[in-house]
Amino acid sequence: MTQEFFDEGALVGVLTTQPLDRVLDYKAPEGGCFLGAFVEVPLGPRKVLGVVWGPGRGDWDISKVRAVNRVLDVVPMAEEMRQFLSKTADYTLTPMSAMLRLATRAPGLGDAPSMRKVYRLGTAEPERMTDARRKVLEVLRDYGGLAFTLKEVAEMAGVTPSVVKGLVKLGAVSEEDSPRDLPYPRLDPEYGSKELTEDQQAGAQVLRDAVRSGRYGTTLLKGVTGSGKTEVYLEAVAECLRQGRQALVLLPEIALTSEFITRVEARFGHKPAEWHSGVTMTERRRCWKMVGQGEAQLIVGARSALFLPFRDLGLIVVDEEHDTSYKQEDGVLYNARDMAVLRASLNSAQVVLASATPSLESWANVEAGKYRRVTLTSRYGAAVLPEMTAIDMRSEDLPGSRWVSPSLQAKVQARLERGEQSLLFLNRRGYAPVTICRACGHQIGCDDCDSTMVEHRFLKRLMCHQCGETKPMPTVCPSCEVEDKLAPVGPGVERMAEEAQALFPQAKIAVLSSDLYGSARALKEHIEAIARGDADVIVGTQLVAKGHNFPKLTLVGVIDADLGLQGSDLRAAERTFQLMRQVAGRAGRAEAAGEAVLQTFQPEHPVIRAILGGDEEAFWAAEAGERRAAGVPPYGRMAGIVLSSPNVQEVFDLGTAMARQDGPLRQIGAQVFGPAPAPIARIRGRHRVRLLVKAEKGVPLQQALAAWAKQFKLRGDLRMAIDIDPQSFY
Ligand SMILES: [Zn+2]
Ligand SMILES: [Zn+2]
Repeated sequence: MTQEFFDEGALVGVLTTQPLDRVLDYKAPEGGCFLGAFVEVPLGPRKVLGVVWGPGRGDWDISKVRAVNRVLDVVPMAEEMRQFLSKTADYTLTPMSAMLRLATRAPGLGDAPSMRKVYRLGTAEPERMTDARRKVLEVLRDYGGLAFTLKEVAEMAGVTPSVVKGLVKLGAVSEEDSPRDLPYPRLDPEYGSKELTEDQQAGAQVLRDAVRSGRYGTTLLKGVTGSGKTEVYLEAVAECLRQGRQALVLLPEIALTSEFITRVEARFGHKPAEWHSGVTMTERRRCWKMVGQGEAQLIVGARSALFLPFRDLGLIVVDEEHDTSYKQEDGVLYNARDMAVLRASLNSAQVVLASATPSLESWANVEAGKYRRVTLTSRYGAAVLPEMTAIDMRSEDLPGSRWVSPSLQAKVQARLERGEQSLLFLNRRGYAPVTICRACGHQIGCDDCDSTMVEHRFLKRLMCHQCGETKPMPTVCPSCEVEDKLAPVGPGVERMAEEAQALFPQAKIAVLSSDLYGSARALKEHIEAIARGDADVIVGTQLVAKGHNFPKLTLVGVIDADLGLQGSDLRAAERTFQLMRQVAGRAGRAEAAGEAVLQTFQPEHPVIRAILGGDEEAFWAAEAGERRAAGVPPYGRMAGIVLSSPNVQEVFDLGTAMARQDGPLRQIGAQVFGPAPAPIARIRGRHRVRLLVKAEKGVPLQQALAAWAKQFKLRGDLRMAIDIDPQSFY
């Protein structure tokens, strides 16, 4: 049994958020402290945040061990959370200090409990009554003893704050301290329950039973777009609330949150707690604290919500589980979907992975019997998925500077005449991906990266999509200095919109791309207007594939279905398949039947044929077969190592040394590939070299990687990033 409480003066080991690689010894403060307590400790001249991680090691001169400054007024970190952080650190090869930073991303945790003054009716009557005083007392009387802030009282009474303060001195108004971080309103699982279809009923029942079991389990909830997956998993949330446990719903996109919050409010009577980058600092701290106290029952958030200090987590829903944004690509490299499964298993909680187009990983886990599967087949309103066909671009007659084929043009024209919406889909932001000089052939690239700059006509600038650097569009070629010869090559959504406007001059064209709107709110309003019919032709990037409803949309035209198939990414086929299915699913959601057409130069490509054929199970089985044969995820293990430095020689030397001294990896039968220049060989002025490690499933890959990496000292400006189960290769 581990010690749960440390008396004053006892040695405790404290894990801090500082990058120190070890737990430090301190003396427990006056009054002692619990295991897991959040504390403030002195470190050199500073005060830093930490957590009491266990008994001290006692290997320091006891007279030099300093005392913990104070214990913070928050619930101590639970045993389960400490385990979760340790296991995630082990899995992702991340230092514990970085894990603790991820788990304490709420500003002001170290502050004293945040209080504010509130005012309510006192007991005394002022001797001298003025008009202003009377107004204040009337307002407070009207509200029957409720308390307000000074500003609220003054505003309601139409007086200055000093009048209220004067009444406090006389005892006619009482002033009290009240905590700023208030609990969230209780959600009612029976509030807005909906009629479910037979299909949904059956699915909901499976999930409810799973939640009721009080044990760990994962269910893949697969349903075509429009099959009502959300209603089904909200029934699992309802059951979790009935059990008195907490639920977490992860969403891939902040822009989707507000639509989802509205649905939660309609179902449970109140809004849930929110956790994502769009939430104010104050609200973040409140959420963090209330989650820990069990005063927030349902949290809706981005992937980092997984690291909140839940008191009793009973259910995690990962919506759109295939979405690549669940993989954190900077800082701590973790996949929220996989870590959700880990956290649930430590909590005897259930996981629901929801998607219309699951990841191959989840599909394989169902096949292996590790996950349960619930499939929703029927669609609301429209009974069938849109009809999908290919347009063979080799037999279409159109000039090189145009991308909408005559066949697709005719289909859009027909929609315009019927008053229906069309979507032209192109997964490329900006106006043109490349700007070329017609005199010398020079392509304008980023100064700091090996990448071409994308013209954004909307911003009137060139932008590097790797580092975000922008510069104005030059008028002379930076290479040969000839004037007015720079020309755009290839299409981006902005250029597609221009072409659409030229082809359909009477039509109202709308562009949907994540970079065109200043805020999530502006984007949301724009999407809502389009959904109401405020556009005839929508030109959009993959933003449109993510769950928005466009009831008037009956045609989806994919401008370049081959785009995702280029490159060497092992997930290229899977991604293209998912994206095409998601986009096609946007069409024909209401009464009108939908149609999706794919413009392609390779209609015979197996992936294009699988998309058109619509036989998903066959696609997954074939894709699984290929990956199994190649020994790659999910049937083998992989790790990507990216070394970077401003010095190209240094970074290649280190890569070569690592490839040679591969003893710890060879011991587990793992292979090292590389070093090779990374697909983007330079970002922000740093040269990048990549090594790839492949191993069989079931070997202790992380231990071997740690032992391998430890052999090398990173001198100067060299950096090493290890990515377990890499999702993309760049
Ligand atoms: Zn030139
Ligand atoms: Zn750049």
